[in-house]
Amino acid sequence: MSRIAVGISACLTGREVRHDGGHKHSRYCTGVLARYFDFRPLCPEAGAGLGTPRPAMHLRLDDGGDQVRLVTVRGGEDRTDALQDWVARTLPGLGSLRGFVLTGKSPSCGLERIRVHGEDGRVLRRDASGLFAAALRSAYPLMPLEEEGRLNDDGLRENFVERVFFLDDWMEMNERGLTPGALIAFHTRHKFQLLAHCQKRYRQLGPLLSDLRAAPLEHIAREYISTAMAAMERRVSRGAHVNAMQHLAGYVREGLEISERRMLDEQIQAYLRGEIPLVVPMTLLRQAQRRRPVAYLDRQDYLRPYPDELGLRNGV
Ligand code: SF4
Repeated sequence: MSRIAVGISACLTGREVRHDGGHKHSRYCTGVLARYFDFRPLCPEAGAGLGTPRPAMHLRLDDGGDQVRLVTVRGGEDRTDALQDWVARTLPGLGSLRGFVLTGKSPSCGLERIRVHGEDGRVLRRDASGLFAAALRSAYPLMPLEEEGRLNDDGLRENFVERVFFLDDWMEMNERGLTPGALIAFHTRHKFQLLAHCQKRYRQLGPLLSDLRAAPLEHIAREYISTAMAAMERRVSRGAHVNAMQHLAGYVREGLEISERRMLDEQIQAYLRGEIPLVVPMTLLRQAQRRRPVAYLDRQDYLRPYPDELGLRNGV
């Protein structure tokens, strides 16, 4: 399996590019995710030529109160233009990435909850994004972005990885050539995933594909993937997984002994009560499918949205 191209803040890979000359090495990224993701490290501040080590910086509202600037904490030297020049040069080359892991709390890379200071140093807001993270989100709204610290949460980690694999499948399909058949096949193999993530959007996607001559295919595909990625961003509740698994179970039930059906139902209910992780009922469904394959389910990514070795379904 070829690894998926994913961007990463360079300090997370162990590179000593932080303002103090240190790093923020993430062993989970370089040790586990790197087996599947071909990480492309970038450091906006080093790339912008701000030097390492360099003075600590933060976001500050300018005099007029309408522009957020990147300035040194001591002395208030403005580094915004250098950083934005690098961003403008670099962003166009990032279109092939399927996701990006960012360092939190950074005025350049932080995705959320970044502080904005006033001229006197007081914190005015805590809801900004770092300048690079904001530009990345705006240029590539479909790209899954996550802060490394949030990958410690089982649900957020699972959701991020699933979205990367989902987007990778979409981009590969487009690279092979968008056709009506390819679009329908994509939707078919991701139906149960989409159903689990967001029923409302799942119901919008079917009609969108019902008449592929209603508009140019590229327009339909654009609307489809923006709705689908919005659905995938929603974390799946236990109830929503149970609903999707019960739909799946309807296909494999015929091939099961009575005792096996009972076991499957019991394990789905135990999962709903939070007594066991998702991997348990999902394994039973996969065993049933393997024993008596149903062609339709063979194409369902919900049964294996990412490599089992990541162990992500043990934690949700
Ligand atoms: S957080 Fe971003 S800008 Fe800061 S050192 Fe890491 S990669 Fe560079």
